[in-house]
Amino acid sequence: MNPVKEMALTRHILETAAGHPDRIAFCVGEERLSYRELVKGARHQAEVLSAWRRYHPPIIPGDQGLRLPVLLLGCLLSRRPYVVMDPTAPVLRQNQLIQDVEEAGPDLPGLAYLMYTSGSTGRPKGVQISRDNLDFFLSATRSLPLEPPGEAVWLTHAPWSFDLSVLPLWQGLSRGDRVVWLDTSRGVDFPRLAAEMAQSGATCWVSTPSFARLWLRDPTFREALLPRLSLFFFCGEVLEPSLVLALARRFPRARVVNAYGPTEATVAATLTEIPRELAEAGGPLPVGQPLPGISLAVLGENGEPLPPGQEGEIAIGGPGVGLGYRGLPELTRQRFFTRDGIPWYRTGDMGRLEEGQLWFHGRRDLQVKHRGCRIELADIEQNLLALPQVAEAVAVLLEDRLLALVVPAAGAAPTPPELIRGLRQRLPHYLLPERILPVAALPLTPQGKLDRREASRMAAEKMKGGRCDG
Ligand code: AMP
Repeated sequence: MNPVKEMALTRHILETAAGHPDRIAFCVGEERLSYRELVKGARHQAEVLSAWRRYHPPIIPGDQGLRLPVLLLGCLLSRRPYVVMDPTAPVLRQNQLIQDVEEAGPDLPGLAYLMYTSGSTGRPKGVQISRDNLDFFLSATRSLPLEPPGEAVWLTHAPWSFDLSVLPLWQGLSRGDRVVWLDTSRGVDFPRLAAEMAQSGATCWVSTPSFARLWLRDPTFREALLPRLSLFFFCGEVLEPSLVLALARRFPRARVVNAYGPTEATVAATLTEIPRELAEAGGPLPVGQPLPGISLAVLGENGEPLPPGQEGEIAIGGPGVGLGYRGLPELTRQRFFTRDGIPWYRTGDMGRLEEGQLWFHGRRDLQVKHRGCRIELADIEQNLLALPQVAEAVAVLLEDRLLALVVPAAGAAPTPPELIRGLRQRLPHYLLPERILPVAALPLTPQGKLDRREASRMAAEKMKGGRCDG
């Protein structure tokens, strides 16, 4: 007997398949998958997996189209965790993930999935999320303002290797709804995707704010394109009031929800609806109240909880907090801890709590969000340093531009396009700097450390002077 218990998630999906087998579960482009087909395929997959002798999780490339939910559900039914691999990442990066999955030892019991994010060592790091974490998150987000189960249509582009995709996929299927996935892996083709949106009947949009902002460029992106849309669900980066107001003009009947949370705490830990009046006031928007069952704390320099109103590091506690990083016990100890019997995660985000609402103030480290993607600047730097032509490197995010300053190795004179080509062999596209700027030396502080502020200023100067040829 497998001691890992059944999930509420899989039970709900099996119930929908039994009661409404012909209902559409999942769509990509012109293709449709019914609940009957989903469960039949997943059961078959689960049987295949039960004969699988390897102890590490199956690695599923994210470009499986209609097969993707079948494969993932098959893993959950067979009580095996899954890992979705970014199919657009270079081979070297994919191999690092495969090696990590295969070599980090046996899986923790009760794992649902591993989600890999940018790591400051220059390799991706795997966040371990349990079946209990996932069931908890789904039950805590059932209170979203949505149509009754079976009637909502979820629209998302979130790549399956990003944790934002967990909400529409599993909440949608768990409620017996339809999930429509927009494939943007080969870029954002506005006419094709707009046609798919028009056919979708979507009621709920799930994306980063960056993706919605991109769509504002398309004049057809308005209520007439998505006449049933009643909710924009945003998570993953700062939501600007200007986006809320622009959407209110195009979609006057749709509500906007801002959710906040890291992959390590299962997608989102807080959320709130943003009324138009709040956005009209113009200031920063709150990221919300904790989901039922989640505790929040704002910690001072020594890890002590600070009183409301004071700024500190945001920590998240409760059943959404994952099981740490795969094969990285030291990093896990630094970020995950238990207090009063509750698991906690130190987010590295700065913020404050006021009247039960959380406010986000930025990061305390070198992690950034660029166009909705989570990036460790050190990941880019380590991979630049791995190129033989590079002696020193620093990556900076300058407003919306990801840039790198590079000191060539002695005797080398690489051109920026050469360096970008080298980096392309090592990093996924979203981690590639827009420009690489060669410099004679990196700026140092009086203590002899890298001066990142000065490096940003140098990058800005170079960009202004047009002395860049990336
Ligand atoms: P990820 O693990 O990719 O979901 O990224 C998590 C990080 O994204 C958090 O630690 C925050 O830094 C940032 N983040 C997530 N949601 C929000 C939000 N609503 N507002 C501002 N930053 C956010």
